[in-house]
Amino acid sequence: MAVKSREIKRITIILILIILVIVNIMIYLESKSLNDKYKNYSEEYLNLKKENKEINKQLFNLNNELDTIKNIEQKTKNIKKEYFGNIKILEDKILNNQSKQKIAYLTFDDGPYYNTYKILDILDQYDVKATFFTTNINGETCYDNKQANCHLMYQEYLKRGHTIANHTYSHGIKRGLYNSEKTFIDSVKKQEDLINSQTGYITNIVRFPGGSATAGKLKNSIIEELRKNNYGWVDWTAQDGDGGSLSSKEQAWQTFTNSIDSNIEVILLHDYNGITTSILPDIIQYLKDNNYLLLPLFYESNMVNK
Ligand SMILES: [Zn+2]
Repeated sequence: MAVKSREIKRITIILILIILVIVNIMIYLESKSLNDKYKNYSEEYLNLKKENKEINKQLFNLNNELDTIKNIEQKTKNIKKEYFGNIKILEDKILNNQSKQKIAYLTFDDGPYYNTYKILDILDQYDVKATFFTTNINGETCYDNKQANCHLMYQEYLKRGHTIANHTYSHGIKRGLYNSEKTFIDSVKKQEDLINSQTGYITNIVRFPGGSATAGKLKNSIIEELRKNNYGWVDWTAQDGDGGSLSSKEQAWQTFTNSIDSNIEVILLHDYNGITTSILPDIIQYLKDNNYLLLPLFYESNMVNK
């Protein structure tokens, strides 16, 4: 009996030892796997940390670039403000007969139009800045010879240093534009939104399609509405007649030279007109020869009614 009991004890001890060995092996294997995992995670962590550092560095550089761009934007705004401020001073002197200098504001209505690139190139050639009273009358569907969408022109105007102004979205003289103050202002705001969406730029200079007289009885109340909405508006003092029925270059030239008789002129031209395009170099030269500075319009100008 004692022998059997010893035998059982021995077997039990052996079994316990075997179990202990197995448990130890399992613990060892588990801890090895955990260690390996930990090692992998550590490496991953280090890589992520490295990546994070790199991203932070890139973010820092981007922020610096953004600051530089913001500074340039601010500087450009300041330069523009100073530039227009000086023109305003010059205008005041001219109007008070304290300066013999003259100013001509070339203005082009009804664009963008596929012909506008030709106008822009001529202006560049003579280093002249002008003002473009834009409308959506042609939508996006007028393409230039490079098949560029008309709306791309908005950025082009600004890129080349011109003033973008508002000639209403619809230009619908006979299609309800002048039905009420509201129909007019709505069309102005819609065009402002279009200009803003294309350029990020907000313009507050308006020209009535057909001129302010076209508004008839509504003229004064529309002007009041424009004032309330902080818009200035401008008609014109000179033109080559290209908004009507021009039959020849000679006729346009005659109309133009006859209309130039003031020390500050706002000259009405149209983007789409081939005759205007062909005599534009002569118009520019004529104005320069007659002591006119050719400048882009700005809200504070005496020529912009407020
Ligand atoms: Zn027009």
